[in-house]
Amino acid sequence: MRNGPGNSGLIMDEPLLWEKGKKGRNGMSISASDVPEAPIADELCGEGPDFPDLSEVEVVRHYTRLSQWNFGVDTGMYPLGSCTMKYNPKINEKHAAAEVFTAAHPMLDDEYCQGTLRIIYELQNYLAEITGLDAVSVQPAAGAHGEMAGMLIFEAYHQSKGGKKRTKILMPDTAHGTNPASAALCGYKPVPIKTGTRGILKVDEIRELMDEETAGIMITNPNTLGLFEENIREIADIVHGKGGLVYGDGANMNAIMGIVDLKRCGVDVLHLNLHKTFSTPHGGGGPGAGPVCVVKELEKFLPTPRVEFDGSVYRTEGDRPDSIGRMHGFHGNYGVLIRAFSYILTMGAEYLKKASQYAVLNASYVKVKLKDYLHLPFDRPCMHEAVFSDKKQQEHKVSTLDMAKRLMDCGYHPPTIYFPLVVSGAIMIEPTETESLEELDVFIDVFRQIAAEAESDPELLHSSPHRFKVKRLDETQAARNPCLRG
Ligand SMILES: *Cc1c(COP(=O)(O)O)cnc(C)c1O
Repeated sequence: MRNGPGNSGLIMDEPLLWEKGKKGRNGMSISASDVPEAPIADELCGEGPDFPDLSEVEVVRHYTRLSQWNFGVDTGMYPLGSCTMKYNPKINEKHAAAEVFTAAHPMLDDEYCQGTLRIIYELQNYLAEITGLDAVSVQPAAGAHGEMAGMLIFEAYHQSKGGKKRTKILMPDTAHGTNPASAALCGYKPVPIKTGTRGILKVDEIRELMDEETAGIMITNPNTLGLFEENIREIADIVHGKGGLVYGDGANMNAIMGIVDLKRCGVDVLHLNLHKTFSTPHGGGGPGAGPVCVVKELEKFLPTPRVEFDGSVYRTEGDRPDSIGRMHGFHGNYGVLIRAFSYILTMGAEYLKKASQYAVLNASYVKVKLKDYLHLPFDRPCMHEAVFSDKKQQEHKVSTLDMAKRLMDCGYHPPTIYFPLVVSGAIMIEPTETESLEELDVFIDVFRQIAAEAESDPELLHSSPHRFKVKRLDETQAARNPCLRG
């Protein structure tokens, strides 16, 4: 069996000793006290936690080993669809860690932090240019947080227009789970829209459902099947015709940077995931940033404060009466903003566009090379990701989960599985632009071999992974009641 390139440290062939150390062993020496001992109140004394006694090298090896028992973009391809787990250039990390930024106190007066404000101001402008929209707030801390800001802007806009309260929002059945959750948090009832047979939204369906009690629609483009919503302009016209707004989930911007102008598509409000497309490592739960971008008419509703520039001085703007208010302390997750700023400057317009073109090319290559081995429910040109299913392997009683676990044995983080929900047994592969042709070829080869094993030796897949300490977890329990002691 051919193995993938990375993550070999994860493979656990050796037995594991969790209990380490010896009574009295020490990791450091503290000089003897040169001041008189003072009595300590009883309530401050106690047993204390039962930590093992360890030497320095035992601690270093323990944590270094734990770090290797995980998958990471720096050790191998991480094709987790919709999450854009691409390589994040280290120069952007270096800039974010620079002391001029990390030591800047967030409560400094504007005049003492012109440089940090300038970065926010220019980033606001770059993101506007990349999306085609007019105005940006970098406050939200995640994609879902940006969605919530967007839904609050919808609400503020409809209130400003007066008329009957709008209570519903149209929601494609391919939407990321955060979309209906954000809409519901803001009091809207999601109305599901069925994906058509081509894997995209049908204009007639929107025409039928859109009415004057509906605040608008949330569209992800490209959608989570990796397909471009070709009818977006027509759909936007229908929604606008009934007084609604169009929300764009821009988490998948990696496919369309420098290529698609979202304002011309009819999008009014959009969030970006800087931690997916713009070089912030993610996957461990944060920090991230989900800037919200809007058309001119909605600018007054954006979260405050943003950064303004009068031609000579950068300022944190004051109160704006129509704003939905603050979404985050100070200016948001500043370190993430620096990474995005650095990424955009080092890439430049030409290479941002190339990154998207390569992301699409790589996904298309994987799609074409695997479609004889895995069922492809929508055999159409894909964007940044390709969605397969386990339909062929089901004949041998092998499921998507079995193949995902087997991939781990071969050195890969699995793709996203069982999402989007509209594809039964979905396998969503997003290779990203940062994988070379050689890496893609090894991955394709490995997946083809797994498909062959599904026919010849289904039991091998049912029982995988074979080379890990933990094998098939109860993921719900693992998240709710983690056992961290091995
Ligand atoms: C990741 C993602 C989100 C949510 O972003 P978070 O930063 O995880 O809140 C929303 N929509 C899509 C399509 C995504 O891929």
